[in-house]
Amino acid sequence: MESDVFGPAGLRAREIASAVRGGRLRAADLCRRTIDAARGLGEALGAFNSVLADSAMACAQEIDRRVVSGEDPGPLAGVPLAIKDNICTRGSRTTCSSRILEDFVPPYDATAVTRLRAAGGVIVAKTNMDEFAMGSSNENSAFRLCRNPWDIERVPGGSSGGSAAAVASGIVPAALGSETGGSVRQPASLCGIVGVKPTYGRVSRYGLVAFASSLDQIGVLAADVADAALILSIIAGHDPLDSTSAPEPVEPYVSLLSGDLRSVTFGLPDEYFVSGMDPEVERLVKGAVERIGGAGGRIVPVSLPHTRFAIPTYYLIATAEASSNLARYDGVRYGLREPSRTLEEMYRRTRSAGFGAEVRRRIMLGTYVLSAGYYDAYYLKAQKVRTLLRRDFEEAFRKSDIILTPTSPTPAFRLGEKTEAPLEMYLSDIFTATANLAGLPAISIPCGLASGRLPVGLQLIGDHFQEPALFKAAAAVEALLGPTGMRPPLAAT
Ligand code: GLN
Repeated sequence: MESDVFGPAGLRAREIASAVRGGRLRAADLCRRTIDAARGLGEALGAFNSVLADSAMACAQEIDRRVVSGEDPGPLAGVPLAIKDNICTRGSRTTCSSRILEDFVPPYDATAVTRLRAAGGVIVAKTNMDEFAMGSSNENSAFRLCRNPWDIERVPGGSSGGSAAAVASGIVPAALGSETGGSVRQPASLCGIVGVKPTYGRVSRYGLVAFASSLDQIGVLAADVADAALILSIIAGHDPLDSTSAPEPVEPYVSLLSGDLRSVTFGLPDEYFVSGMDPEVERLVKGAVERIGGAGGRIVPVSLPHTRFAIPTYYLIATAEASSNLARYDGVRYGLREPSRTLEEMYRRTRSAGFGAEVRRRIMLGTYVLSAGYYDAYYLKAQKVRTLLRRDFEEAFRKSDIILTPTSPTPAFRLGEKTEAPLEMYLSDIFTATANLAGLPAISIPCGLASGRLPVGLQLIGDHFQEPALFKAAAAVEALLGPTGMRPPLAAT
């Protein structure tokens, strides 16, 4: 379904770039307007950790100068973009919404940010998030709540909640987020926009603060599929600075978007339409499936039998890797330091003061599952189940091109509704974490409004490095479902 969300000046990212390149829109004017919205509406929503007014204005003016002097500033010329606050931006704070990195200013840009800048993008703000990307509601930020522009009493999802709120409210046309278990797709679904997580290795992780390295990927949040495809094609591709980035060439995803559903076979996994899921989510996703079938898309049943182990497997692997990645915050090298008499006391005091409750819970869980005597029973076992999950998908992709599921089991929930029940919060990832465990590309697109006012997303999952097929199918479904006819009550334009 095509969202009715638009970026600043009522434009999508590609339209902004074409207007700026054609001299019809001044990047500096748009930048000023975006900064005002970020400081006004963005503040009310809690979408940002910092607004980079000076550097953004300087960058926008430089783009205008280049247009005037006949140069082409690139495919994102003058497009205002927001970046999740766990992706390094040179000279601007990158906090991960954590006290431990509250004053951390990276001396370099993440590769994805370098590529956005080289394409003419203007980085206007860093977005709020769950601390170290651990969470599904943005409520684990150490600094501020983030609200859903569709209903300010509800969460935007997480952990890329600020990026989703910033795009859904039209402050920026697109933003970067990151995924470990669903943190781009789930907030995109809850905020009525598009969110894509690429194949593991498709985008460089250089400069993405590590959570669980075998799962982490940078993803894109945008108002529609074409903008998401455009931005992913810019940040994707091999990077010598990340040895896990893939050498596969990047195709120009946007030019491949043609809307034919009849050549696509959609696999529907029984295990993702479980009893007990929110009836509105079920109704809207099944309604979309019917329309796809009616338009000539082939729908076949597939089975992903190990799905029920996905959440336990994810929380063993993610916590294990997090406990080792977060060992680097020791008060010695960077970030917070609590002065103490002995080294051990400094570690203890720094880490107790610097990490919030959820991060501490994950470090303890992860340390436990990696400890001598338990490693085989937990971590090793989880890795084996991960292989079984991957094989389920291999089998399913023999019968289908694209797997179709709901993105999140519920629409946006109320602030505070799940904060006392971590296991319930963890279940928000039940339909998304499998793609991270299997390393597959997946996208969430809007498919309607629950009770007429809360967005619901549907998820399409593709085979490894099949982003072109994934975007093609997503654009076709988006066109078929048409506009929702509704915009969030809190919108900039
Ligand atoms: N909600 C999941 C978690 O808390 C996923 C987070 C993510 O994808 N970064 O771990």
